[in-house]
Amino acid sequence: MTENSGFMTGGGDMGAMMRAHDWSASSLGDPETWPESLRTSLSIMLNSSFPMFVWWDEKSLINFYNDEYKVILGNKHPDALGQSAKKVWTEIWSDIEPLKKQVFTDGTPVYMKDLRLMLNRYGYEEEAYFTFSYGPIREDDGKIGGLFCVVNETTEEVLNHQKLEESDNRFRSLADTAPMYIAMADETGNAVYFNQPWLEYTGKKLEDMKGMGWLSTLHPDDAPTFENDFKKAFSEHIAINKEYRFRRADGEYRWMLAIGAPRFTPKGNFIGYFGTYTDFHELKEAQIAVQQREEQFRALADNIPNLAWMARADGHIYWYNSRWYEYTGKSPAQMEGWGWQSVHDPNELPGVLAKWKNSIKSGRGFEMVFPLRGADGSFRPFLTRVVPLRSKDGVIEQWIGTNTDISQQIKIKHAEARTEELEGIAAQLARQQKDLIELNKAKDEFISLASHQLRTPATGVKQYVGMLIEGYAGELSIQQKLFAERAYESNEREISIVNDLLKVAQVDAGKMHIRKKKIDFVALIQEVIDEQRGKFAEQNQSIIFKKFTETIVANADEERMRMVIENLVDNASKYTPPYKTITVDVSVVKEGKLRIKIQDEGVGISASDKKKIFEKFVRIDNPLSDVVGGSGLGLYLVKRIVDLHDGSIEVSSTPKKGSVFTITLPV
Ligand code: ADP
Repeated sequence: MTENSGFMTGGGDMGAMMRAHDWSASSLGDPETWPESLRTSLSIMLNSSFPMFVWWDEKSLINFYNDEYKVILGNKHPDALGQSAKKVWTEIWSDIEPLKKQVFTDGTPVYMKDLRLMLNRYGYEEEAYFTFSYGPIREDDGKIGGLFCVVNETTEEVLNHQKLEESDNRFRSLADTAPMYIAMADETGNAVYFNQPWLEYTGKKLEDMKGMGWLSTLHPDDAPTFENDFKKAFSEHIAINKEYRFRRADGEYRWMLAIGAPRFTPKGNFIGYFGTYTDFHELKEAQIAVQQREEQFRALADNIPNLAWMARADGHIYWYNSRWYEYTGKSPAQMEGWGWQSVHDPNELPGVLAKWKNSIKSGRGFEMVFPLRGADGSFRPFLTRVVPLRSKDGVIEQWIGTNTDISQQIKIKHAEARTEELEGIAAQLARQQKDLIELNKAKDEFISLASHQLRTPATGVKQYVGMLIEGYAGELSIQQKLFAERAYESNEREISIVNDLLKVAQVDAGKMHIRKKKIDFVALIQEVIDEQRGKFAEQNQSIIFKKFTETIVANADEERMRMVIENLVDNASKYTPPYKTITVDVSVVKEGKLRIKIQDEGVGISASDKKKIFEKFVRIDNPLSDVVGGSGLGLYLVKRIVDLHDGSIEVSSTPKKGSVFTITLPV
């Protein structure tokens, strides 16, 4: 290298090759003789990082290039150095020759972008693209000595771009014929694409739909929801699955199912959304109708007094009305599905389950009464009705059940039955009472008749036996007299009983009349006691009469009152053992009333018997009742007579200690 070839300094491989090249054999000769403009151009070329070449002299077109250009030459390197460009680029010469000519002839620079050339640099033909500029290199005298080229191979970019465009076109033609609505938005949320069906649906032009323009077709009611979803999607880049209404060209808003997928570059950068919209308007309307129907039902069911619920076709209960929760005191979580079994009576549950499962299987409703446990723990009976709800084509969609508390009805039914029963008993009693009254009347009549009939012969016996004892039929032996006297006494007793019967018959028939006059009770009682003194002596009994005043005068029927006192004094003696005392007293008590007390130390009367002793024909068993005779009529008559005097009789007694009979009479 001589002093004058310093312009070839540096330049990597190509610099070295150029310096080593034997230029003397070329038309250019020794580099020392090369024109200044060529040398400057080559110096620039060798020291550039951009692919460059220089063609010098239009006739010989001697080819110089730098390291960066080697790649473009392929196997043409290294022979291409110093060769004629026309020879290097034979296969494309017809394409570039006119361009070269323009530079050398007119001096006008040439700029080509992505020029397609069919090269053969590796032994086969290939499509390649280049962006380059050709510029003239002028010499000192202004003549164009050569051509300076800066070139960039763009084959990869161009082919990639073509592929992209192809796929884009394929997508569009596919999208435009797809039976759905498709749109795309960029990463800022601006809509950039709508397929043909979308544009036809809205009746709008793409320009009007782009950006945010398409939102003018969104239903105003859906705008707030949409805005929320939109913001969320573009900040979180998540998949979208939502329902909105969009206006069709004819003005009708129709329900669309919007499914949006976020788009990312291979490196993971978010670049917007790809969205499909499916018109499912009719389905949605049907859904809304069902929802509304269910909504109405729930509102209704929450306001009825019955318990109510809804179940899926498979029997899973998914809703109960508020009354159900109120009554059972349970929570929705406890009741859902098959949880309701916990409020059933375990004994009844198998039957209920069998019915319900059978219904689910057969598709037929059922009616049944069973108990349900309330919040207070007690069971009440419920009438349960279950019906299936079917779709138009007859498929069971759900079950609706109601449970009605029928405890009140059952109570009423029971009460009705009880009332009926009581009415029956009352009617029967009334009949029996009527029969008894009839019977009693018949009996009274019989007793009255019988007593009369009995008295006459007994009176006859008394008369004739009396005459026998008096000796009218001659002197009787001692034994004869004794027997006659016994007969007389027996007859006397019979007459007494018959008399009692007659009196009772009179009382019962209302024939006993009280004839009152002023009588002195002290004197009357004294007379009765005196008359019976013999009997007390026989029994070794003492009788005490306590009189607090000399006379007590009151209005009364003397004969009947005598009978009352005789009877009570007689009983006191009869039901008292020997060696005991009977006390009688009479006094006027404060309220202007007369009180007679007959007290004994006899066998006494039990509390339960006290009520009975004043009834007709009642004789109470006691240690003395077998020894002493009686008809059970005495106290009955006593009470009737006292009653007829507007008085009262009471008895107090301690068994084995004695009794007190107290008569109170108005003075
Ligand atoms: P009776 O003819 O049997 O004496 P009453 O009507 O006079 O009939 O009395 C009814 C029953 O009352 C008697 O059978 C007797 O058991 C009981 N009774 C009456 N008075 C007395 C008394 N003072 N003490 C004990 N029991 C008496």
